[in-house]
Amino acid sequence: MMEPAAAASAGGFPHPAMHDADFEAERRDMIERQLRRRGLHDKKVLDAMFAVPRHEFVLPEYVGAAYDDRPLPIGPAETIPQPYIVAAMSAAAQIEPGDCALEVGTGSGYQAAILAYLGARVYTIERNPELAGQARERLARLGYTAVEVIHGDGSNGYAAAAPYQAILVTAAAPAVPPPLLEQLDEGGRLVIPVGDRYHQFLQLIFKHGGRTAARLLDPVQFVPLVGQQAWPEQT
Ligand code: SAM
Repeated sequence: MMEPAAAASAGGFPHPAMHDADFEAERRDMIERQLRRRGLHDKKVLDAMFAVPRHEFVLPEYVGAAYDDRPLPIGPAETIPQPYIVAAMSAAAQIEPGDCALEVGTGSGYQAAILAYLGARVYTIERNPELAGQARERLARLGYTAVEVIHGDGSNGYAAAAPYQAILVTAAAPAVPPPLLEQLDEGGRLVIPVGDRYHQFLQLIFKHGGRTAARLLDPVQFVPLVGQQAWPEQT
C-alpha cells in the first residue's frame, strides 16, 4: 500500500492538493489495480498519480468516474487519457527535477500537472483555444505554477523554449514531426503515438550523439494530432 504523498515532490514542487483526502480510496485503488498490476513500479510516477487530483481535470458529469480505468471525454473530440497511459508515458519520459518538458496536446492539463509534479518546467501547447484557456485557468487555480499553457499548433513544437529534455505528444501523429526531433535535447526522450487515425503504437525516441533511436511501447488509441506537420483538418 502506498503512503500518502509527502509534503513536496522530488523536485520540491509544492502541491496544494496534498491535503485533499477526496477520492483517496479511488486513487489508491487506481494505483494498485491499474498501474502496479500492469507492471508500472516507478515510485516517483506512482506518487505523482496518487497526488494529482484527476477529479479536478474532468467534466463535472464525469467526476464520479475520474479514477476509472478508461479515457473520458473533455470536449467534442477530445479526451483525457486512461490513467495507465498517462503513467506509462510519464515513466517512459524519465523526468528528472529541473528538466524542461514540452507537452503537445494540453487537453485538460492533467498530463502537464503530472510532469510538473515530477519536477519539470512544463510548456504545453493546445490547438483548441477554449481547452487551452480552461486548462490555463485550472492549472493556475490548483497551483501548478511551473506549467505554461500555449495556444497553437504543437506539431511545430515550441521553439521559443527549446531544447527539451522530454517531449510528450498526447495526440496521434502519422509520423514523427521533424521539428520535435530538432527541439529534443541531446540525451532527450520523446514519447509519441504514431500510426493511422484509429490505431497507433506509442514510440519512445532517444537522441544521442545527434542521432535518434526508437523503441515501440504499448498499442494505443489517441485522437489525431491535427496540424502543419501532422494530419490535415477534416472537412
Ligand atoms: N494530455 C491531455 C490531458 O492530459 O488531458 C489530453 C490530450 S487529448 C488526448 C489530445 C489533445 O491534443 C486535444 O485536446 C487536441 O485538441 C490536441 N491537439 C490535436 N492536435 C494538436 C496540435 N497540432 N497542437 C496542439 N494540440 C493539438
